[in-house]
Amino acid sequence: MGALRLDDSASAVEGVGPRFAKNLATGLSVVTVRDLVEHYPRRYQDLGELADLTDVVIGQPATLVGTVESWERRITQRRGKGGKGGKGGRGGGTRLVISEAVVRTERGQTFAVTFFNQDWRERSLKPGTVAAFSGKVDSFRGAHKLTMPEVQSLGRGVHAAGAADGIEHRRLLPIYPATESVPSWKLSTWIEAALDELPLFVDYLDEVVLDEQDLLALDDAMRGVHLPDDMPTAKAARKRLVFDELFTLQLGLQWRRHRLEADVVGLDNAPIDGGLADRYIDSLPFEPTGAQRRALDALTKDLGKQRPMHRLLQGDVGSGKTVVAIWSMLCAVDGQRQAALMVPTEVLAEQHHRTLTEQLAPLGVNVLDGVRVELLTSSTPTKSRRRILAELLSGDVDIVVGTHALLEEGVRFADLGVVVIDEQHRFGVSQRVQLRDKGHPDVMPDVLVMTATPIPRSLALTLYGDLDVTELDELPPGRKPIVTQLITPTEHARRERLYDFVREQAAAGFQTYVVCPLVDPSDEIAATAATAEFERLRDEVFPDLTVELVHGRMSSADKDAAMSRFRSREAAVLVATTVIEVGVDVPTATVMIIEDADRFGISQLHQLRGRVGRGGDKSYCVLFADPTTDEAVSRLQAIVDTTDGFALADVDLDLRGEGQLFGQRQSGLPDLKLARLQRDRAVIGQTRKLALAIIDDDPDLVGHPDLRREVLRRYQGGLDELDALHTG
Ligand code: ADP
Ligand code: MG
Repeated sequence: MGALRLDDSASAVEGVGPRFAKNLATGLSVVTVRDLVEHYPRRYQDLGELADLTDVVIGQPATLVGTVESWERRITQRRGKGGKGGKGGRGGGTRLVISEAVVRTERGQTFAVTFFNQDWRERSLKPGTVAAFSGKVDSFRGAHKLTMPEVQSLGRGVHAAGAADGIEHRRLLPIYPATESVPSWKLSTWIEAALDELPLFVDYLDEVVLDEQDLLALDDAMRGVHLPDDMPTAKAARKRLVFDELFTLQLGLQWRRHRLEADVVGLDNAPIDGGLADRYIDSLPFEPTGAQRRALDALTKDLGKQRPMHRLLQGDVGSGKTVVAIWSMLCAVDGQRQAALMVPTEVLAEQHHRTLTEQLAPLGVNVLDGVRVELLTSSTPTKSRRRILAELLSGDVDIVVGTHALLEEGVRFADLGVVVIDEQHRFGVSQRVQLRDKGHPDVMPDVLVMTATPIPRSLALTLYGDLDVTELDELPPGRKPIVTQLITPTEHARRERLYDFVREQAAAGFQTYVVCPLVDPSDEIAATAATAEFERLRDEVFPDLTVELVHGRMSSADKDAAMSRFRSREAAVLVATTVIEVGVDVPTATVMIIEDADRFGISQLHQLRGRVGRGGDKSYCVLFADPTTDEAVSRLQAIVDTTDGFALADVDLDLRGEGQLFGQRQSGLPDLKLARLQRDRAVIGQTRKLALAIIDDDPDLVGHPDLRREVLRRYQGGLDELDALHTG
C-alpha cells in the first residue's frame, strides 16, 4: 500500500500499461488513477448464483465460480512447419504446455479449466484460490470445461475449522461499465490492484457529519464500493459516495452564489401601491390562483431586495405563468425601468405581444404617456427595428417582447430592470446571460426564468441548485381534464369517427389542431408531413371547413395570418408542426390530434396537449401512434394515464435518465458518477439544506479547509458553467 497516487496516469497501475491506458481513455474517459477508482460498478453479481452448474448451457458463454482444487500439466510436441526461425522446440515443431485445473463449486460440483502455454496460471491460481472463470462452456467426458477463459481471482478460500466446505471469500463480483477492449473483469483486476497500491483515502468530512448522516469513512466507502463483502456494505459505500457528490455540488453552488452576490448590485423593483402591476392584477377577468398569489408574494420579496433576483418559475402547462411574467415586467415599469421578455418562437412572441397589449388596455393608461410595448423578432422590418432599437436605448420603450433577435448586437437598454425568459429550456446558457447583460453595466436586472413544463424538483435543484424555485402547483379553476386516447394509424374507422367529431366541434364553435412531425414529405423519414396532411384535410376530409397551415419555414406574415384566422375561429382546423408546441394560447381550441405521436418525447406531447383545455370547455387529445419499442409504449401510456405535468416529468426522468433529459446544449449538469436524481432525490434536498447552513455561516468555507479543497477539486471548472446557468 502506498506507492500509487490518485493523480498518476492510469498506466501506472499494474497490468494497465500504455496499450490499455489508451483504450481506457478513449472508451471510458479513464485517464488517471482517480478516474479508474471512481469508475464504479454498475451492479454486483452474487457469486452464489454463479456456483451452480445445473443451469449452465453447453455451448453458451457463462461465468463459473469455484475453488481451484488441483493442477495437472501436460506437454505435447507437435511437428510444425516453422522452418529455421520457428519459435518451437529443437525439432522445429511446436511445444504446447497444457495446464488444466479442477475447480470445485460451492455446491460440490466440479468443472475443468484449461490453459495453453500459460503455466503461470498455476502459480496465480494456486489450489485454494477462489476465482470466477468466464468463457464458452464445453462438455468433455461428461464434465463442464472452459478453455482459455477470462479469470478474476476472488481471494483465497479459507476452510473453516470443523466445516469442511465453509469457504470464505468475496461473495459479490462487481460488474463495471465496460467496452469491448476493456471488459469488466479487466477493470476489476486493475481497480483492485490500484486500491492495493493507494494510500488511505483521507476523509474531508468531519466525524460529526459522518455520525449525523450515518456515513462510512471515505476509505471504507472507496474500497467497499469495489470489493464489498456483502450487499449491505456495497449499499453503505454507495450511500457515502452519493452523499459526497451531491453535498460538494450543493456546497459549490451555494458558495458560488454567495461570491457572485457579494460584488453585484441589484435593483429595487418592488411593486408600488396602486402602480401598474397592482392594477394589472385587479383588472384581470379572473382571480389569481393560490399558487399564483404565492408566486407573486415570493417575487415581491425578490424584486425588492438589493440583490438580483434569480428565480425559476415552474408550472404545468396552463397554470398561468404569463400573468406572473407580465406582473413582474410591470413592476419594472412602475420603477421607471424597462423590461424584456424573451421567448423561443415568433408565434409565441406575437402572442405574448398581443396578450400584453390587450391586457394593458383596460388599465386605462393614456395612449400618449402609457406603457410602450414593442415586438422584436427577426421578421421585424428594418425600419421599425431601427426605431425600436433607438427607443430601447433612449428608454422610450418600456417593454419589449422578442425572440433571439433580442440578443443581437444593436439591442441595448437604457435601464433594464426585469428580464423574463419563457420556456427557458430552449435557450442556451450564454444566451440568457447575454440578454441580462444588455442593461446598465454596473447593475444586474432581476431575472425570472420559466419552464415550459415542470422538471422534477430534484433535477431543478441540481441543475439550478442556486436558483430559487417557485412552483405553480395549481391550475386555474374550472379546467376539465383532457380526455386522451391512443389510436393506431390503421384503425380507419376510428379515424373517420374522429373527423366527424372534429366537424361537430367546429359546428359548436370549437377548433382542432393537427400536429405532424415533418414539414415536407421525406424519403428518409416515414412520418406525416404537415404540408401533405394540410392538403389532404383541406381537399378530401374537410372541404366544408376552413383549414389552415403553420410551420417554421413559412414567412412570418403568413404564419401570423394563419394563426389569427385560427384564433378568431374563422378557421376550424390548424395543421401545424411543433412550432405551436409551446405557449400558444387559443382558449376555444378543444381538440388536439397528434400524428406519429411516438416521434415525440413526453414533455413535447404534454406541451402539445396543453394547447387545448385552456378555456373551460371539455377537451380531447388523440394520439395516432404505432409504438415499436417498450420505451415508446411506456411514454405514450404515461401521457394517456395522466395530465399532471409534475408526474410526467418524473416518468420522463425515469424512462430516459438525467443524462438524456438535458442534451449537451443544456448540459451544465454536473458529472455525477453515482448519484441519480430520481433515486437520490431525498439526498439532494438534505445536502442542499446542509450546504445552505454551512455557507450561511462560513460563506467562503475558510473554516472548512478540507471541504473547500474538495469542492474546488470537483467543481472548479464546472461551476463557471453552473454560474452562468443560475443567472440566466
Ligand atoms: P402557461 O403557464 O402554460 O404559460 P398561460 O399563462 O398561457 O399558461 O395561461 C393559460 C390560460 O389560463 C390563459 O388563457 C390565461 O388567461 C388563463 N389563466 C391564467 N391564470 C388564470 C386564473 N387565475 N384563473 C383563470 N384563468 C387563468
Ligand atoms: Mg406560457
